[in-house]
Amino acid sequence: MEKVIEVKNLYKLYRVGDSVVRALDGVNFELYKGEFCAIVGTSGSGKSTLLNMLAGLEKPTKGEVIISGVHIEGLNEDGLVKFRRDNVGFIFQSFHLIGTMNALENVALPLSFRGESKSTRLKKADKMLDLVNLKKHKKHMPNQMSGGQQQRVGVARALVVDPKIIFADEPTGNLDSHTSEEVMALMQRIVREQKKTLVMVTHDNHLAEYADRVFHIIDGKIVQIEDNRLKQVDNLPEEDKTGEKRKHNESDKPDGKRKSEEREGESK
Ligand code: ADP
Ligand code: MG
Repeated sequence: MEKVIEVKNLYKLYRVGDSVVRALDGVNFELYKGEFCAIVGTSGSGKSTLLNMLAGLEKPTKGEVIISGVHIEGLNEDGLVKFRRDNVGFIFQSFHLIGTMNALENVALPLSFRGESKSTRLKKADKMLDLVNLKKHKKHMPNQMSGGQQQRVGVARALVVDPKIIFADEPTGNLDSHTSEEVMALMQRIVREQKKTLVMVTHDNHLAEYADRVFHIIDGKIVQIEDNRLKQVDNLPEEDKTGEKRKHNESDKPDGKRKSEEREGESK
C-alpha cells in the first residue's frame, strides 16, 4: 500500500497569556492511498489544529508531517501554495461556494488556477457534477440549492483537480442528519472508486462509522485508533446485514451507548 501521509511526534503549543495550551501533544500515525480516516473528538480536542498542520496551513511547534515523501513542515509559503494546489482538495463546513456563480462554474473554478482552457474546465466540472448526482442542477445558483446539494457541489469542487488527498473539517456540520448521511455515503463511495485519501474531522461518532479508520483525539492526543474494516458483518444484528448504515437517531438510545462503544468497552 502506498503511504500518503505520515505524522511523527507532532506538537502544537499555543501561548495564551501566561499559560500554554497543548493543542497537539505528540501525535503519530500513517495514512495510505484509498483510506477514509475520521478524526473524532469533542470541541477543543485539537481536530482542526491537526487538519491545519496536515494541510500546511499552520506550522507545528515540533515534529514532522510527510506527505507523499515531502516534509510539509519544511516548506516555505510558495512551496506550500504549490503543494496545496497540486495535492489537496478541501471540503468546508459552510460550503464556501461563490454566490454569483452557478454549480458548474463553482466546480470549474479551482482549475482556472492551473491554467486549463475554459472548455476543458467546464468539461471536467460537468463530469464531476455527474459523479455527485447533480446532473439536473448544473445551472443552479447556490441559493437555489438545498444544503445537501450545495455540499455535493463542494465535494465535486474538491475532486475536480484530481487531488491525492481531500481534507474535510465538519463537512456535514450545517446539514440535517438525513442529509449528512447522504453526503457521507457519497464521500465514502468516491474515496473507494477513485482511491483518494480522505481525512475528515467530526465531533459525531456516528458519522465516523463511514470511515475506514477512526482516530479518537482527546486533549491533543490520539488515544485510540479503530479499524471499521475489521468489524465483522456477522456480529451485527439482523437488520444491519444488508450493509445499510444504522439510522442517525439510534445514537439517541436511552442508555446513550451505541454498539461500537460497547465493543470498544469490551476490548479494554
Ligand atoms: P477542535 O477543532 O477539536 O474543536 P481546535 O484544534 O480548534 O479544537 O483547538 C484545540 C485547542 O487549541 C483548544 O483548546 C483551543 O482553544 C486551542 N487553540 C486553537 N487555536 C488557537 C490559537 N490560535 N491560539 C490559542 N489557542 C488556540
Ligand atoms: Mg474545529
